[in-house]
Amino acid sequence: MNRLHEKLQDVYEEVARRNPGEDEFHQSVYEVLQSLGPVVAKHPEYADSAVIRRLCEPERQIIFRVPWVDDNGTVQINRGFRVEFNSALGPFKGGLRFHPTVYLGIVKFLGFEQIFKNSLTGMPIGGGKGGADFDPKGRSDAEVMRFCQSFMTELYRHLGEYTDVPAGDTGVGMREIGYLFGQYKRITNRYESGVLTGKGTTWGGSQVRTEATGYGTVFFVNEILKSTDDTFEGKTAVVSGSGNVAIYAIEKIHELGGTVVACSDSSGYVYDPKGIDLEILKEIKEVRRGRIAEYAEMRAGAAQFVKDRNVWEVPCDIAIPCATQNEINGDEAAALIKNGCRIVAEGANMPCSPSAIKQFNEAGVIFAPGKAANAGGVATSALEMQQNASRDSWTFVDTELRLEQIMRRIHNRCLVTAEEYGQPGNYVAGANIAGFIRVADAMLALGLV
Ligand code: NDP
Repeated sequence: MNRLHEKLQDVYEEVARRNPGEDEFHQSVYEVLQSLGPVVAKHPEYADSAVIRRLCEPERQIIFRVPWVDDNGTVQINRGFRVEFNSALGPFKGGLRFHPTVYLGIVKFLGFEQIFKNSLTGMPIGGGKGGADFDPKGRSDAEVMRFCQSFMTELYRHLGEYTDVPAGDTGVGMREIGYLFGQYKRITNRYESGVLTGKGTTWGGSQVRTEATGYGTVFFVNEILKSTDDTFEGKTAVVSGSGNVAIYAIEKIHELGGTVVACSDSSGYVYDPKGIDLEILKEIKEVRRGRIAEYAEMRAGAAQFVKDRNVWEVPCDIAIPCATQNEINGDEAAALIKNGCRIVAEGANMPCSPSAIKQFNEAGVIFAPGKAANAGGVATSALEMQQNASRDSWTFVDTELRLEQIMRRIHNRCLVTAEEYGQPGNYVAGANIAGFIRVADAMLALGLV
């Protein structure tokens, strides 16, 4: 690990000491602090006023028991979390993740990332994240409903359209948001649409929210391509995962003329040289909640399932990791570089480890960090809140156009900021610095709170 700027090294050491065992959180803080050296050199007031130290400490952390009864009548106990990280720019905003790996360190890393991402969108939203170590995989709808109701029975008291507005993330899609919203409504006796985003379009949701993170990431890549006078036409892409973000990233790449030849889940990947058939993928993943191996069976010889292997061994021009944190490490990065990959854009949160990012930089691979590239999801959530507040609903075309414009603005803000701080073309520096400055200035304006 390189040493940080002298005014930031102590901040990092304090974070590591006060949050023992939370490796992902340490990693995300280190990554941001690494970018802020030139900022504190130019503006020492950010370090001297302790705004950076304050940013690293969540405003509030909630941990709670979630008891529920499974279909066999057995009592199950899970642990729920909500980390309300920073509300200088607006109500806490960020998704809920239901996955067995969820613990406080994961929620804090996601919440910390969310502060800068939300700031970068230019919209009035603070940063937070939550979830539970509950695994919806293999559970019946009734079990998922009982879990969500128990989860919300505890969490509702901390939420509100002006306080904290959760959304979905891994393991939390429209089904879960529906059960959570239903229980919130029942307990509070209020149809408060703006308290959750990712709702169904017939009950307060926004058009394009389902597609937004995947589409937004691809719009971001399209801006990168445009900045080098290039297009998606004829490009080969690999997308990891086959969940919400992955499916709509694939859809938009195909619309823009590229071909996605492989995608995955935690059991392996499928390789389909003619391009992933989205109708089949959606049927398996969105309707049947099945496994990726079924895709190869349904494509009858046209596609191959590769069990327990990593999708990054498949050659591509563009790689879009959309599964989970640290899925691309040194070896995967080396394979991508060797096979000629030119652009890596994070659809997931922190899927590339620091050593992978270093390798991409050294090899001249353009790297777009999740904070910027996947911000389209939360930006569209903010559009959903806007529609809820005005009791309006916009068309798909209008909402998608807004999303595209937001992604273009984020892309340009990253480039302009990176240039201003002496690191032209460095999207990581641009995203971290631009996201930081907006939230830090708001914190200074609001006083020591
Ligand atoms: P989903 O639960 O819909 O999908 C996750 C996908 O990733 C599944 O196909 C899952 O497979 C796969 N996956 C998980 N772990 C692994 C692994 N170790 N190896 C291979 N595949 C794996 O989640 P989302 O699509 O919503 O989220 C994906 C990522 O995008 C997360 O990092 C999330 O934080 C981020 N993100 C999501 C946003 C959103 O709007 N949904 C917004 C911004 C970021 P399996 O079913 O086998 O577990």
